[in-house]
Amino acid sequence: MTQLNTPYPATAYLTGFLRQHSDRLGLELAQADLAIELFLRVFSNGGLTRVHAELQARLAEVRDLRDIPVAITQFVGEGDRYIETIDPVVRFLQGRDPNLAHRIVANDFLPQGRRFAAIENGPGAEDDDPLGWAFGGLGLADRAKHLASLYIDDIADAIREGIAPDFELARYGERLAASAPTFDPLREALEGEATIIDEMLDDLSRELVAKHRPDFVGITAPFPGNVYGAFRIARAIKAARPKTRIALGGGYVNTELRELSDPRVFDYVDYITLDDGEAPMLALVEHLANKKKPLLRTFVRKADSVELVTTDAIHDVPIAAAGTPTYAGLPLDRYLSLFEMLNPMHRLWSDGRWNKLTIAHGCYWKQCTFCDVSLDYIARYERAPADLLVDRIEALIAETGQTGFHFVDEAAPPAALRALAETLIARGVTITWWGNVRFEKAFTPELCELLARSGCVAISGGLEVASDRLLALMKKGVTVEQVARVTRAFTDAGVMVHAYLMYGFPTQTVQDTVDALERVRQLFAEGCVQSAFWHRFAATVHSPIGLQPKLFGIKLAKKKHAFARNEVAFTDPTGTDHDALADGLRRAVYNYMHGLGLEEDPRSWFGKPRGTKIPKVTVAPDLIRRALDASD
Ligand code: SF4
Repeated sequence: MTQLNTPYPATAYLTGFLRQHSDRLGLELAQADLAIELFLRVFSNGGLTRVHAELQARLAEVRDLRDIPVAITQFVGEGDRYIETIDPVVRFLQGRDPNLAHRIVANDFLPQGRRFAAIENGPGAEDDDPLGWAFGGLGLADRAKHLASLYIDDIADAIREGIAPDFELARYGERLAASAPTFDPLREALEGEATIIDEMLDDLSRELVAKHRPDFVGITAPFPGNVYGAFRIARAIKAARPKTRIALGGGYVNTELRELSDPRVFDYVDYITLDDGEAPMLALVEHLANKKKPLLRTFVRKADSVELVTTDAIHDVPIAAAGTPTYAGLPLDRYLSLFEMLNPMHRLWSDGRWNKLTIAHGCYWKQCTFCDVSLDYIARYERAPADLLVDRIEALIAETGQTGFHFVDEAAPPAALRALAETLIARGVTITWWGNVRFEKAFTPELCELLARSGCVAISGGLEVASDRLLALMKKGVTVEQVARVTRAFTDAGVMVHAYLMYGFPTQTVQDTVDALERVRQLFAEGCVQSAFWHRFAATVHSPIGLQPKLFGIKLAKKKHAFARNEVAFTDPTGTDHDALADGLRRAVYNYMHGLGLEEDPRSWFGKPRGTKIPKVTVAPDLIRRALDASD
């Protein structure tokens, strides 16, 4: 499970690349997305009938219903209504039955669980129409989409709390894989009693194998929340068709499994490839046809150990030779547009179908001390020529009929964005796009306007700790005042801005955090950013901080590992209790995104955390205003 609104691009990239070699090698290629298929099977009349029966049976064994989470009792109590409405609601969210919006907003069509309480407690709580502030009188389709999304969330809550504790719409079994030092918990879950969600995934995997009868399957696991599913799929394929060879790759593997030494992993997969998948996959395909051909960056089992096999004779594929991604074979009309958070930037992540492309490989800056700069996906920088990108954009529009693009770069280079925008405009190609950047001074008001004219509607970037001292320590290469000017230039050009924020950085004090929140408040108040999210800092072993913790005044915990290794626990002598501040930070930004609480003292969001004294803000109240005036 990754995203419900659009396919993850890895299979599209690899299929597009391998297609170029299919004639020469006699390949028949097919791709599938079992994440969307699993969602559609669970969230269907038949799927919810099974979920309901299972939950009902569990409730029958319970003496005191007060011990049962309300998500379960509410779902079971209104089970018939959920089962009756699920197929029409899914069709509506797939965009295939827009007129259902009238019934959904009529308020008696959907059963309403605890997620709907957010409406009653939201910014319009005092009004006769509590969603009127967000949708007015005319926003029928959006209002219905929001209500239908809450309904889907209620069902997911009931499944998680009553059937599969690790089930979420965007991840499954994440806890089992994220920086898991041993394979034991995953193996136990794979070989233990299957939940009905597992059974449905097993069924889907078997059906897929029966349909394609593959000789070779590549599975991508971009995030920890995909790993349990990936192994489960591999297990079902092996059981149904033992001769099929299976390879595992993707972002999770590249960051977490580089020091893999547990051979039991190979009971499920035959090969594990590291870093970009194109060249290792092609090498594997050739190797399977002729065992004398070498493998590239591929883990294999050797007796009772694990060996990384590689060669200097094969190189990674340059962008120009990677081919055009293709979504052929994926059910593009069956993805769902969800709209849970009433924030225009957040909806880009979950609403609408986006073709995904990268403007460059790696990061042109590659200096941030918290980032995996030692790994290939950041360290190897290569830019795609603008004409080639626009050729690929046109090919994807022709194939999918969609003109929305999400550029999934870690940090898109300003010069490449300028070239892309000029080429799109010169060639008269109309698209809508968004992506991730560093808020650096190259984004002048003139460049922001050019990007907006080329179809840019939103930009995200890291403001991180919102403190110049800590930004320097993390080598972000920006200052808060510079971020203010750049984000304001984007906003003035009509481009929405989302800021990634971070807390808990080495040496960060409570004073740093309170002051950071004040700067963020001012950025919202001055209209520089419209959306933001606080992430807790994590030390990863591939970052400069993980590689040289002493330089940052922290000590990493030592732990033996035979499976995954990425995030490591550490001790910071500053001793700040960052957990005590987390809720206040999130609450503040959630309110700022709705235009609320912008006049209040930032300290008010923290309450009175035990053991932590919240100091007064030391930032000038007009810091951001003055920075903007200086640029005017
Ligand atoms: S955090 Fe972003 S800008 Fe910094 S090195 Fe990593 S990818 Fe580049």
